[in-house]
Amino acid sequence: AVEFRQVSKSFGHHQVITTVDLSVASGEVVAVCGPSGSGKSTLIRLINQLETASDGEILIDGKPTRGLKGAALQRLRTHIGFVFQQFNLYAHLTAQDNVSLALIKVHGWKKTEARAKALALLTRVGLADKAQHYPEQLSGGQQQRVAIARALATDPNIILFDEPTSALDPEMIGEVLLVMRELARSGITMIVVTHEMSFAREIADRVIFMDGGEILEQAAPEDFFTRPTHPRAQRFLQKVL
Ligand code: ATP
Ligand code: MG
Repeated sequence: AVEFRQVSKSFGHHQVITTVDLSVASGEVVAVCGPSGSGKSTLIRLINQLETASDGEILIDGKPTRGLKGAALQRLRTHIGFVFQQFNLYAHLTAQDNVSLALIKVHGWKKTEARAKALALLTRVGLADKAQHYPEQLSGGQQQRVAIARALATDPNIILFDEPTSALDPEMIGEVLLVMRELARSGITMIVVTHEMSFAREIADRVIFMDGGEILEQAAPEDFFTRPTHPRAQRFLQKVL
């Protein structure tokens, strides 16, 4: 579970998150949408401490995360997978080595065991036959699926996605959403920043709409998409639907 208590974030004098309260239950799937610059990426980056809150508290499974360093921060990140828009794979490593790297380097697994786990995860995302390929030999959709397998390597109970399909050609979006759809059913807690409104509608338990660093609306997808209450959410949906 993830809980924001009165969380604010400023970059210099620029406040980009303003006193956000948010509770995401274990196993819940939350879609985050909103205009560019509204603070969506910052919001999820705060969860695994890629950014540090300027104010307020973020609790993961009931435990405060402020000021975690070294091994404690490492442990937190072990429980939280992160998938970036631009995949961020290591270009000089095969798909399998991208997935197994952290298990070996950070968690001290034996190489053979880490590789076996990586292969199982690649199989899960439909890429067993691409294990020995390097990122440049893979399509965007395949690279993103490797990135998802990598994010799952440490058995996180929370996985964060920041516009995972925005860098993909349209014909590759479906294969990534398919993997995400399956994950959503697996009981993992998911927070997904996305512009894929039909996907959000289908898989999310709740949709969050952000603008200007605030959560202006949160609702079940059915309610959010058919009768948004905040005028800015209404305007946003008119543009994107
Ligand atoms: P997009 O849809 O374009 O990805 P977003 O909703 O993810 O936008 P954020 O990336 O969270 O928005 O950015 C929110 C605001 O914070 C923006 O005004 C952005 O310029 C600013 N910002 C984000 N990261 C930094 C940073 N490291 N330093 C300074 N300002 C930043
Ligand atoms: Mg963003």
